[in-house]
Amino acid sequence: MSDAVEEASGETLFIADLHLDASRPAVTTLALAFLERARAAASLWILGDLFEAWLGDDAVTETHEPVVAALGALTASGVELHLMHGNRDFLLGEAFAARVGARLHREDECVLPLGAEPVLLLHGDTLCTGDLEYQALRARLRDPAWQSQFLARSPVERVAAATALRERSREAVAGKSGGIMDVEPEAVTSAFDRNGCRAMIHGHTHRPADHRGASGTRRVVVGDWHDAHARYARHDGTTLTLETWRAHRGAR
Ligand code: MN
Repeated sequence: MSDAVEEASGETLFIADLHLDASRPAVTTLALAFLERARAAASLWILGDLFEAWLGDDAVTETHEPVVAALGALTASGVELHLMHGNRDFLLGEAFAARVGARLHREDECVLPLGAEPVLLLHGDTLCTGDLEYQALRARLRDPAWQSQFLARSPVERVAAATALRERSREAVAGKSGGIMDVEPEAVTSAFDRNGCRAMIHGHTHRPADHRGASGTRRVVVGDWHDAHARYARHDGTTLTLETWRAHRGAR
């Protein structure tokens, strides 16, 4: 399922995997600086995992308030904000999107006309088809019935359930090989074919790179956010590049 989006004009920025959390305040500071810089752009896409955890729009923690305010200020300044779900913040909902003035894309894949060609946007976890255990968990957590049941519980109960889930996921990840946590080439090829695209931008794997395929395809992977740097993608209206954002001296 992909969502068609209208042609963007001007500069477009793409970020993912900020994993914002109270335990890493420097990342929030870096993100706030980036959101200032993003005011110069026409649009910003957040390709999932903005937050380390999101347990419902009614359970926003105080830690996230500055980012929520900065996102609202960004859209108020006229920048288009697009949100996609990651595997951590898939419960981001319409209330949150409305609050910050964003458009929430619930589909796993979006096709964005960017310059001369359509570019496929996705979080990236759907490409990691080698991790069968994760894909089974994903199917369960994305089930609308499971989600409405979960969101009907009290915020305190949700926190407890999520902590238990994360604990299990940490144990599972520790026992997995590096290869299984990366994208599968066949999944990349079929995503290109299914959407009629030859370029894609995703995150999730925390392996930022600009992969150029022999058949002329291109897969730009944006990075996860560290205390002092992050890799993001930028389309200036003509060219797509993978850039680095640094604390204090971010290139404009
Ligand atoms: Mn992810």
